[in-house]
Amino acid sequence: MSYELCKKIIDLNPYEAIHEDYKHKLDANESFIPIDDKILNQIKDKLGEIDFNRYPDPYCENLCECFSRFYGVDKSYITVGNGSDELISIITSSFLMSQDTVLTITPDFSMYKFYAHIAECNLVEVAKDSTLKIDIDTVIKAAKANNAKMIIFSNPCNPTSLGISREEIIRLLCSVDSLVVLDEAYMDFWNESLVHDIGEFDNLIILKTASKAWGMASIRLGFAIANLKLTKAMKAVKSPYNVNTVSQRIGAVIYSNKETLLEMRNKILLQRDYLYSELISITEPYNDIIVYPSCTNFVLIEFESECESSRIYNYLKENSVLVRCMGKYLRVTASSDTDINAFLNLLKKAIKI
Ligand SMILES: *Cc1c(COP(=O)(O)O)cnc(C)c1O
Repeated sequence: MSYELCKKIIDLNPYEAIHEDYKHKLDANESFIPIDDKILNQIKDKLGEIDFNRYPDPYCENLCECFSRFYGVDKSYITVGNGSDELISIITSSFLMSQDTVLTITPDFSMYKFYAHIAECNLVEVAKDSTLKIDIDTVIKAAKANNAKMIIFSNPCNPTSLGISREEIIRLLCSVDSLVVLDEAYMDFWNESLVHDIGEFDNLIILKTASKAWGMASIRLGFAIANLKLTKAMKAVKSPYNVNTVSQRIGAVIYSNKETLLEMRNKILLQRDYLYSELISITEPYNDIIVYPSCTNFVLIEFESECESSRIYNYLKENSVLVRCMGKYLRVTASSDTDINAFLNLLKKAIKI
């Protein structure tokens, strides 16, 4: 006798996060700014008040109040997850039946495809055009033709760094019967959010995270914002104690410090602009390198070929600068002056080799 893994997981490998130490980490779109001292002290006080022997609040009431005030969105529309990653998993595995169709717009965040696979869904991938833009009419047509039950994409998009307007998304929401999961992980760096319109759509779930602009990737907090019916369903299908008390308390402190958070975010945006403008001037003489304008905390660079991007990626890596390589693209997270300058200096050398 022998036990066989089922077909859908037999060839899967564990997620490979890079844990080696690199001097300059510009690969994961994390915030480069360490936590503010004042906020850290508030957190320390809060942690002392925890009843560690008790289970967490399943609905994160206090955290939801703070989040609700931060974004100006009604508390009853919020579901909290152990990172938005968990929420993507919960939504995909619960709101869909096996063999239902999930539509993604590629390239996009790789986890959408992964969870669709685990949920035994059919995947329809609509390709972005050669400039990496989303054509909403193509998405609408494909959703209808394939009877898509769910459309999931990020706006602004990881990895393209491009965004599409609220109007375009509203047009999509009004033209399809599908559930639309709008991942706004990077919307804190831009200003076309749909959170304030959430009550008007019966097919919209917006995802937000503490991991990017707010610099809290370590505590794993993600948020789903949706109307009452969808929110009730999400709360019903999630595991009861999915968000631990430590993260709930820390999150409540974080979202109660709006001014400090916005200052941090603005610092990141300044670094992003610096990275972008330097890249534009460095690559100006090279017609085969494209630098995309960014609505996020990272910049995407397109090279002539996959061979060229991976050559540069490896050269950077050998010199302790880590970026993300995806096909013929490099994705570079905005960071400190030291990190950006280390990257730029190596890049200048690499493209001339
Ligand atoms: C980083 C990221 C997230 C955030 O995931 P968490 O699980 O909340 O850390 C979600 N979506 C996209 C597109 C991202 O890039």
